[in-house]
Amino acid sequence: MAGRFAPSPTSPLHLGNLRTALVAWLAARSSGRKMLLRIEDLDQQRVSAAPAVANAQIADLQSLGLDFDGDVVWQSSRLQRYAAAVAGLPTYECFCTRREIAEAASAPHGDGYRPYPSTCAHLSDAERAERRETRPPALRVRAEGAVETVTDGLAGQVTGVVDDFVVVRSDGVPAYNLAVVVDDVAQGVDQVVRGDDLLSSSPRQAWLTRRLGGSVAQYLHVPLVVNADGRRLAKRDRSVTLADLAADGVSPDRVLTGLARSLGLAGATESVTPAQLVNRFDARALPREQWAVPSDATGWS
Ligand code: GLU
Repeated sequence: MAGRFAPSPTSPLHLGNLRTALVAWLAARSSGRKMLLRIEDLDQQRVSAAPAVANAQIADLQSLGLDFDGDVVWQSSRLQRYAAAVAGLPTYECFCTRREIAEAASAPHGDGYRPYPSTCAHLSDAERAERRETRPPALRVRAEGAVETVTDGLAGQVTGVVDDFVVVRSDGVPAYNLAVVVDDVAQGVDQVVRGDDLLSSSPRQAWLTRRLGGSVAQYLHVPLVVNADGRRLAKRDRSVTLADLAADGVSPDRVLTGLARSLGLAGATESVTPAQLVNRFDARALPREQWAVPSDATGWS
């Protein structure tokens, strides 16, 4: 049994990512699970800075006192596994552009996701051959209109229609939903903790987990962290990475303590380590509202 933290090496981890990592670590450690670290670098394979960004992310997690079991897994080294999983799924080629899907699909869901209206599901061989001349296809899985319900530790029951989602992108890169499920199943992950922007992906992922012979994990989607203006944290926000905060004189220990306080796990005057929080952790007692980061260094004292 294992939990995991699975960052994408697009930019240094910000306070939202670090807070989610702390919750994931505590959820795993407090339930006797292993805690795994997986670098989701499929999208970044051709980005030369990706390994350096990932290594800096790993160093940041370590400096907060979070430790991980076993070797760090890099998705870019597991392409054969993804290809093997796709080969065992019922799939079809899809030639639709984003725009065509937007025009044909129903209104986007709250997270902007538009369920795919299966436009390319029944193309003839001749139609497919013709379309291949103009555009490389993505591969979609045939989900046959499945409906899946997952149970989330904070959100409760979440039901979603499983559309024919992309499993291989048109540039040949395995899609996020495919890779994450293949790895969670292969690594024995039965506890998924991540930001609640991914809550609506969980019914699709749970369905694929079953399809690949795995057992659906317990989910915990943590509310996002926002800046002083109430907007979701982004790279351009100031003082949101450990490097920014160190430059402002805020040490990783103080950041860890501040994150613990934001989770209701530390008092106003104490200084804590992750290990001290393990016995205090209770997923059901986590704050359900978004947390706004301190706007300057004084907020971390
Ligand atoms: N790699 C994803 C991200 O950084 C997280 C994937 C997951 O936890 O399922 O947003």
